[in-house]
Amino acid sequence: MRDDVRERARTYFDGASPAHDWHHVRRVARLAETLVEADGKQIDEDVLFAAVWLHDIGRSKEDCGEIEDHAEWGADEADDVLRELDADAETIEEVRHCIRAHRYSNDVAPETREAKILSDADNLDALGAVGIARVFAYGGELGQPLYDPDLPPEADDSAAGETQFNHIHEKILDLPDRMYTDAGWELADDRAAYVAAFADRFEREAAGEL
Ligand code: FE
Repeated sequence: MRDDVRERARTYFDGASPAHDWHHVRRVARLAETLVEADGKQIDEDVLFAAVWLHDIGRSKEDCGEIEDHAEWGADEADDVLRELDADAETIEEVRHCIRAHRYSNDVAPETREAKILSDADNLDALGAVGIARVFAYGGELGQPLYDPDLPPEADDSAAGETQFNHIHEKILDLPDRMYTDAGWELADDRAAYVAAFADRFEREAAGEL
């Protein structure tokens, strides 16, 4: 089933933007494998990897305003995909939960091991060098400025940051606090330290100190 789900999921990413394209999904799959190995606890790999492949199938629809919440829409769409592939009802329910819970802002907390690993893997891809690249790719799509010297992070009280640089401060550097697994936390801590060093250097360059 795993390969069939992967191939079905892939079709949703034609023309996807760089921050949430199929390469993102593949990196999340790789990170999920790393976390499963490090975690060492029993999990249902069919559930986890179906959820990994399908978690962002609604993302481009949300980005263009066609739907409001890619996690809710994605869970319903995943239900249809998995039904067509003859997955059993319990697997479908578990995958639905993982997908609904991976989006931090929709108030569904991950309750199962599989949902926690998907959430951690997805957040890890928002950290480190790759995470920084994704912030600027996404901010570029939104047409946000890189940085605004008149709006430093401490003066920006928007939820996600009004500049790309502020987004790093508002959202990305807090991600280690949102990890659910020990292995996820360790990797997140290391990646966040890299982002913090980048942010510090960026600020000094932008201020003309370097
Ligand atoms: Fe994702």
